[in-house]
Amino acid sequence: MSVRPIVTWPDPRLSEVCAPVDDLTDLADLVRDMFDTMYDAPGRGLAAPQIGVMQRVFVMDPTWKTGDRTPFVCINPEILSSGGGTADATEACLSIPGVSVDVSRPTDITFGFTDLDGVRHETRLTGFAAICAQHELDHLNGVVIFDRLTPEMRAQVEANYAVLV
Ligand code: ZN
Repeated sequence: MSVRPIVTWPDPRLSEVCAPVDDLTDLADLVRDMFDTMYDAPGRGLAAPQIGVMQRVFVMDPTWKTGDRTPFVCINPEILSSGGGTADATEACLSIPGVSVDVSRPTDITFGFTDLDGVRHETRLTGFAAICAQHELDHLNGVVIFDRLTPEMRAQVEANYAVLV
C-alpha cells in the first residue's frame, strides 16, 4: 500500500491540462497508489494530477462509502454525449479541503474510457457516478470546482478557503 501526498489548491498543477496516456506499461503501479490514496483520504474519486502525475487517468468508486466497492479505472476518458438536463449537487474535492459547493452538471452521460487492459468501454452513468466522473474528468482538463462557480460565488468561496489554509 502506498498513499501519496495529495496536491492542494492553489497548486498550479491543478490548472494544467493533462497529457493523453499512450503507454499502459507501468500504469498499474500508479493506479494502485491512486486507489490507496483515494480510499485513505477518504474520497470517492481521485485524478492523477491530484498526486502530481499529469496524465489523463482517474480512479473512482462512487458506492464504497454506502455499500459495496465498485472501483473504476478510467484512462483517456471522454464524455460522448449528455442528456437528462442539468441538476445542482453539492461537491467536495480532496484538493480543496474544507470546501463544499453546489455545482450544476448534466445528470445523464455516456462515458468512454480505456481500462488497465487497454480495452475501450462505453457506459451510461447517472446519479452520483455521473457527477463523480465529470468532476474527475474536469481535473484532467485543469478545471476545479471553483471554475464551475459564478465569479461572485467564486470570490466568496475562495476568500473563505484562503482563511482555512
Ligand atoms: Zn476534485
